[in-house]
Amino acid sequence: MNICSPLLEISLKAIYHNAKLIVEKGREMGVYIDGVTKVSLGDPKIADILVKAGVRGLSDSRIESIKRMKEEVEAEYTLIRLPCLSQVEEIVKYADISLNSEIKTLRALNASSKKLGKRHKIIIMVEMGDIREGIWNRDELMEIIREILKMENLDLYGLGTNFTCFGGVIPTVETYWEFVDLVEKIEETFSINLPLISAGNSSSIPLLFEGKIPKKINHLRIGEGIMLGKDTAFRKHIPGARLDTFRFIGEILEIKEKPSVPWGIINEDAFGHKPSFVDKGIRRRALLNFGRQDIDPQGITPELPGIEVLGATSDYTVVDIGDYDFKVGDNLSFSLNYSALLQAFTSPYVKKIYKD
Ligand SMILES: *Cc1c(COP(=O)(O)O)cnc(C)c1O
Repeated sequence: MNICSPLLEISLKAIYHNAKLIVEKGREMGVYIDGVTKVSLGDPKIADILVKAGVRGLSDSRIESIKRMKEEVEAEYTLIRLPCLSQVEEIVKYADISLNSEIKTLRALNASSKKLGKRHKIIIMVEMGDIREGIWNRDELMEIIREILKMENLDLYGLGTNFTCFGGVIPTVETYWEFVDLVEKIEETFSINLPLISAGNSSSIPLLFEGKIPKKINHLRIGEGIMLGKDTAFRKHIPGARLDTFRFIGEILEIKEKPSVPWGIINEDAFGHKPSFVDKGIRRRALLNFGRQDIDPQGITPELPGIEVLGATSDYTVVDIGDYDFKVGDNLSFSLNYSALLQAFTSPYVKKIYKD
C-alpha cells in the first residue's frame, strides 16, 4: 500500500550541534548535562547523536523507551518520571538511576534490586515551588534519606529538583541557593557526599549561560533546549544554537476558494469548542493530510510567510494559503513547538525521516 503520511524531518546534525553547544557550556561551568530523549519516545538515532555530542547520560520518562535505546546505545540511563510500583523490576533492569519521592516505591526498588542481584542509584526529588514531583516537607525528606541510607541495594546518588513543567515556575539564583543550603544541610547531617546535584531542565539554560548556577549544583537534564534550540524560561534562542532541528511536512488534499466564516446554525465543533471566525471574505484555503492525531495545530508555524493555520480536526488541518499558487498534491512545511513535536513523534501516522 502506498502511504499518505505527513513527514517529520529530523536533522541529526542540528541536534548534535545543539547538544554539543550545551554540553560544552556545561563543562565550562562545572555542570554535567544529561540528554532528555522523552519528546522523541527514546529514538535510538537521537540517543546515539546525544552520546556522541558528549552528554553525561541519557534520561527518559518511560522505561519502555529506555529499554529500546539501551539495545542500541551504550550510556548511563536515568528514568526521570517517578517509577510505577508495578514496574519496579523493569526499572531496576533497564535504568541505572531513577528519580524518586515515595518511601513505598523505594522499598519496592530495593527489594527488586536485591532479587535481581543489582544495585540501583537514587536521586531524591525535592519540591522547590513548581508543585509537581518532589518532597516539600523537610522532616519527611530527612526521614526518607535516613531510610535509603540503610537500604542494602540502593545507592543514594543525589538530590534533584524540577522547575517550569507544571507551575511554570522559573529557577532563580535565590531558589538555587535555597536548594544548595538544603543539600549542604543533608550532607552534613548524614556525613555523606552526594555525587549528583541535579537541579533542573531547559529552563535553567539562561542561568547556565550567564554563569549564575551555584557551584554545588553540577547537573542538568536537558531536552527541549537541545531539540529546539531555545530555553524554556523565556523561550529565547540559545546563543549559537540551531533552530532547524525538525520540520513537519504535509500534503495538500483540497484547495478551494471559500468564505472565511461558516454559515448555518453554529454550535460546537468536533472537540466541544465553540469556534470563532474572523470574516476576511472569500479566501483560498487548503486542507492538509494531518490533524490533531499528528500535531498540535497551535504549535505549528508555516515556513512561508503569509500562510495561516486556521485550525485542525482529527485528520485535517485547514490553512489559508493567501496568494500562493499551490496545487493538490503539493507539500507545505512547518516548524514545530514542543507540544507539536511530542505529538508528531507519538503519532504512528507521521513518518520520521532523518536528514543527515
Ligand atoms: C521533561 C523533564 C526534563 C527535561 O525538560 P526540558 O524542558 O525538555 O529540558 C527534565 N527533568 C524532568 C524531571 C522532566 O520531566
